[in-house]
Amino acid sequence: MDALDQFMAHRRLAREYARAELTPEQQDLQRAAREFASAEFPGVITADPATEKTFPHALLAAYAELGMTAVDVAEEYGGAGYGLTEKALCIIEDCRADSTIGLAFSLVSIISDVLAIVGDEEQKKRWLPLIVEGRCFPAISLTEPDHGSDLTRFNTRAEIDGEKFVLDGVKVFTTYGLEADYFIVAAQTDASAPDYEGFSTILVERDRPGVGVASLGDKLGIKMTTSAEVVFCGVRVPRHNLVGELHRGIETLNRFFAKSRVKIAAQALGVALGAFEAAFTYATRERRQTGRFIGEYRAVAEMLDFGREAIARMWKLLLRAARNYDAGGPFDPTFLAALAKLECSNLAERVVRLCLQIFGGYGYMREGNPADVERRLRDVVITTIYEGTNQIMEAIIRGHLRQNPHDRHLIHW
Ligand SMILES: Cc1cc2nc3c(=O)[nH]c(=O)nc-3n(C[C@H](O)[C@H](O)[C@H](O)COP(=O)(O)OP(=O)(O)OC[C@H]3O[C@@H](n4cnc5c(N)ncnc54)[C@H](O)[C@@H]3O)c2cc1C
Repeated sequence: MDALDQFMAHRRLAREYARAELTPEQQDLQRAAREFASAEFPGVITADPATEKTFPHALLAAYAELGMTAVDVAEEYGGAGYGLTEKALCIIEDCRADSTIGLAFSLVSIISDVLAIVGDEEQKKRWLPLIVEGRCFPAISLTEPDHGSDLTRFNTRAEIDGEKFVLDGVKVFTTYGLEADYFIVAAQTDASAPDYEGFSTILVERDRPGVGVASLGDKLGIKMTTSAEVVFCGVRVPRHNLVGELHRGIETLNRFFAKSRVKIAAQALGVALGAFEAAFTYATRERRQTGRFIGEYRAVAEMLDFGREAIARMWKLLLRAARNYDAGGPFDPTFLAALAKLECSNLAERVVRLCLQIFGGYGYMREGNPADVERRLRDVVITTIYEGTNQIMEAIIRGHLRQNPHDRHLIHW
C-alpha cells in the first residue's frame, strides 16, 4: 500500500469511527466531547514533569460545567441520563486528546458507578450531584496487600456492633485515595462464610475518625491520579452505609465490573487512537528519510496497517459490549465486558508501542515528544492491570465459555 492508499484507508477508518451507526444525538455528544477535549487538554501537561502529576481542578470544573461529568448519571441526580455507550464515546474522545487527563477524568466516573449502580436513594442523592458538579472524588478500596486478583475474601473486617459497622484493615492502590471524599470498602462481614459469600461493600466517609491515608509514591503512568494506602482503624459507620446487600459484596462488584471494564476498554481505545492518528500523519505527511515519506517503507506501512485493523477491532468489541450493557442483553454483560477490556487493552498497548517505533528516537524522548507517545505508552499499560488483570479476564472468559460453549463465536466476531 503506498502512502496515498494508506491515507485514504485511514480517512475511511476515521469516517467509520465517526459514523459507526451512531444516532444523531450520539454524534452530537461525540462532537461536543471532541471539541472540548481537543481544545482544552493539549498543553496542560508540558515538558515540566510536575504538570503530569498536578490534577487540573479548574479544567475539571469547566468539564463539569459542559456536562461531561454528567453524561451517564441519571437525571434525578443532575445527570444527562445517557447510557454507557454515550459515556464510552466521550471517554474515547478525552483519552484521544490526552491520555493522562482522559484517564484521570474518566476514573472519577468509573469509581462513582458503584453508587450509581447499587447505591440506595439516600446515598445517590448525597453523592452523585457532587460528582456531576466535579466537586467530589470517590474512591473504591478493594485491593489489599494479600488480596489483589483474589476477591474470594478480605482481611479487612467490618464487625456488626448494634447499628454500626466497625472497620479494621489496610487497603492498597486506592486511586484518588489522598483526595477521596468517600471510600467504597470491601470488608469481611462474615468470616466463616464460604469464599465470595461473606464480604460486603460499605461506604466510609473520609472524615470518620480512624481513617488514615498515605501516598504509595510515584508510578509508571497515570500520574495525575494518586495511589494510596488506606488504613481503617476501628472506624465506626452507620449500618445504612452498607452499599448493596449484606454479605453479597461479590454481587455489587460483579455489577460494577460489567460496566467499569467497558469504560476501561474505552480508555484504551482512546489512547491508541490518539497515538495512531499522530503516527499516521507523521509517517505519511511529515517525516522523510532518504527522500521518501517513512510510511512508504513496507516495514512502517505494516505497523500502520496493524494499528488501523486493531483500532477497528477495538471499536467493534467496545460498541458491542456497551450496547449490550445498555440494552440489558442479549449476551452476558460480564463476559462481553471482560472480552472488551482484554482485547482493547492488549491491542492498545501494542498499537501505542508501534506508534512510538514510528516516531523513532523522537518517540522515545520525554521532552519535545511529537505526540506525547512516550507518555501514552506509560499510561496505557494500566488498562491491562486495574479492574482485574488481563490474566483474570482470560480466566473469566474461559469460565464463561465452559458454561456457555455456544457463545464461542463472540470471541471471533
Ligand atoms: C495505578 C493503579 C490503580 C489502581 N486502582 C485501584 C483502586 O482504585 N482500587 C482498588 O481496589 N485497586 C486498585 N488497583 C489495584 C489493581 O486492581 C490490582 O493491582 C490488580 O487487581 C492486581 O492485583 P495485584 O497487584 O495484587 O496482583 P496479583 O493479584 O498478585 O497478581 C500478580 C500477577 O499474577 C497474576 N495472577 C494472579 N492471580 C491469578 C490467577 N488466578 N490466574 C492467573 N493469573 C493470576 C496476575 O495476572 C498478575 O500478572 C490499582 C492498581 C494500580 C497499579
